[in-house]
Amino acid sequence: GKGAAMVTAVAYRLANQHAERQRILDSLRLSREQLLEVKSRMRKEMDRGLAKESHDQAAVKMLPTYVRSTPDGTEHGDFLALDLGGTNFRVLLVRVRGGKRRSVEMHNKIYTIPSEAVQGTGDELFDHIVHCIADFLEYMGMKGASLPLGFTFSFPCHQNKLDQGILLKWTKGFKASGCEGEDVVTLLKDAIHRREEFDLDVVAVVNDTVGTMMTCGYEDPLCEVGLIVGTGTNACYMEEMPNVELVDGDEGRMCVNMEWGAFGDQGELEDFSTDFDRTVDERSTNPGKQRYEKMISGMYLGEIVRNVLLEFTAKGLLFRGKLSERLKTRGIFETKFLSQIESDRLALRQVRSILQHLGLTSSTCDDSILVKEVCSVVARRAAQLCGAGLAAVVDKIRQNRNLPQLKITVGVDGTLYKLHPHFSSIMHQTVRDLSPLCDVTFLQSEDGSGKGAALITAVACRIRDAGQH
Ligand code: BGC
Ligand code: MG
Repeated sequence: GKGAAMVTAVAYRLANQHAERQRILDSLRLSREQLLEVKSRMRKEMDRGLAKESHDQAAVKMLPTYVRSTPDGTEHGDFLALDLGGTNFRVLLVRVRGGKRRSVEMHNKIYTIPSEAVQGTGDELFDHIVHCIADFLEYMGMKGASLPLGFTFSFPCHQNKLDQGILLKWTKGFKASGCEGEDVVTLLKDAIHRREEFDLDVVAVVNDTVGTMMTCGYEDPLCEVGLIVGTGTNACYMEEMPNVELVDGDEGRMCVNMEWGAFGDQGELEDFSTDFDRTVDERSTNPGKQRYEKMISGMYLGEIVRNVLLEFTAKGLLFRGKLSERLKTRGIFETKFLSQIESDRLALRQVRSILQHLGLTSSTCDDSILVKEVCSVVARRAAQLCGAGLAAVVDKIRQNRNLPQLKITVGVDGTLYKLHPHFSSIMHQTVRDLSPLCDVTFLQSEDGSGKGAALITAVACRIRDAGQH
């Protein structure tokens, strides 16, 4: 009768909703075959970036860093370090003691970079940086001191030597004008001269991945890869000189800053990405750029989640189909939130209270389950993509050295890696699965980027001083 027809209609609608829900979630899941394909495409891009002939066209730039030697423990002295391009801007004083009682002691202060400085002119940005250095020297009671400085500048830079870094393009929402194509050491020195208060000896420009590798390498000599998964993502590793075609000389190894965030910028990830990824990309400050980074790092994951939730809501599968202003607001899901919501200790009603805290009040228990599932699928895909890239890196190192088996350590830093409850384990698992001939250990760095810049500066000063005697 009528009743039975209604029951059938309801059941039919529920089945449809369920199928629709699964279809959307499945679009964010990658199979093992797909991940192997990501690994192999990354490997191809690495080769293209390294080779002179294809470098200019390559998406993954594989930039030489002029870092060849790791600290040998004899370095010593006081160094300043700047750390720009992560979650915070910091100025550090690093005291390196060599010999038997070797140690690295650090003092640092965190500064905020006002959005006017990030989005204004390069002069404004660098004036602000120099203002912070002046404040720090004053705070440390070192006004007027002129120390060697290592500049951790976590953006893609072309280098012809250690103390130069020509900014290729801003990433991670930075857009200060007049900097792309310029040497950031010159921009910094000009700002120091404008202030006429002190002088600094800029010895090294260092990517945060390289600083992280160096810091971990100070503890573990097997550490020859650096990885960042924070606001952005990137990796570096020790490459054989004959493969570093952009730099003359065939002896030894050089650290290569991969700038792997740009993987996908020539369509390499098209068959794995979704409309959600395309939307996040289109609305970013750098559309079409850093496509791999935008599927992995902390600055973008929350936005992917929000776009998925918007779709679920529009289809009537979430928040009773009611699109709130709040949900339409960009940037409401920070990494911190993704980490909290996936915490295993969290009961569903706590997920609900987090959602309420975000202003998403109409949520039911089913909503909480679905939101948590979306967060989990998006974070898992990020961790797997990152693992597939890293699998390509360690396997290349193994092949470079003609080894049946490679034992290697990866130094890691970044808020997403450190704070998310599942990211690291899924990423490790993926690397092990996709590169079974490599025995990979992961070492978390403590304050890697600043400390690493100081260590690289210390090594450069040791070599320079040795040359002078
Ligand atoms: C930058 C890299 C940096 C990474 C992690 C990316 O956006 O291009 O240079 O290493 O973020 O901070
Ligand atoms: Mg060479």
